[in-house]
Amino acid sequence: MDVNLLAARLLVVEDEARLAANLAQGLSEAGYTIVLAGSAEEARARLGAEHYDLLVLDLRLPGQDGLAFLRELRREGSVLPVLILTARDGTADRVTGLDSGADDYLVKPFAFSELLARLRALLRRRLAAGAPVVEVGELRLDTLSRRAWRGRRELGLSPKEAAVLEYLMRHAGVTVARDALGAAVWGESYDPCSNLVGVFINRLRQKIDQVREPSAIVTVRGAGYLLRVGARGDGDGGAT
Ligand code: CA
Repeated sequence: MDVNLLAARLLVVEDEARLAANLAQGLSEAGYTIVLAGSAEEARARLGAEHYDLLVLDLRLPGQDGLAFLRELRREGSVLPVLILTARDGTADRVTGLDSGADDYLVKPFAFSELLARLRALLRRRLAAGAPVVEVGELRLDTLSRRAWRGRRELGLSPKEAAVLEYLMRHAGVTVARDALGAAVWGESYDPCSNLVGVFINRLRQKIDQVREPSAIVTVRGAGYLLRVGARGDGDGGAT
């Protein structure tokens, strides 16, 4: 297996303890890093805290249903590959699952070898989905692992910080409106009255900028933010 596929981190949302344990064991043996969540709420907390490459999602869960959780993720702009693993085996269920944003759908009971093959296919597709690495000047962001560097220095970003930076990098040299950025990163949960974007921009500046240099992220008063294309603070000063 490709090294990148082996290193993948999988979040498995499954409330049935025995199946969850079997999945964790089988997937670990296959070389993946596995984290288990017993509910959508737990999964949400995990996704907010750490990076994952793929989500395996049961539908019948205590609390929020798997489908509702998936729709919410997609509304918020998440592109995380999702494989639904469920006992709901009707054609209409599969159609609903895929239409709700799943990338694949596998019915229980299933052959483990088929689950592994489908996971490999999803991860391969994600890797092939083109240029997972975005570069602007000295800044480099691996959108797959959510790691970012300025030159050779790793920035140590949280997933949301990485998402804000990715948005700025994909619009480098263009002034982006604060609310457009907020909506892209936080989706429907974004509150335009909050100062969330400002807070994250400041955190990013602290991590990106080097001492005695003007910030790579420029505040354009009354308009938004601008990532300098050079992103190396090349001297027009006072632009924080
Ligand atoms: Ca269940």
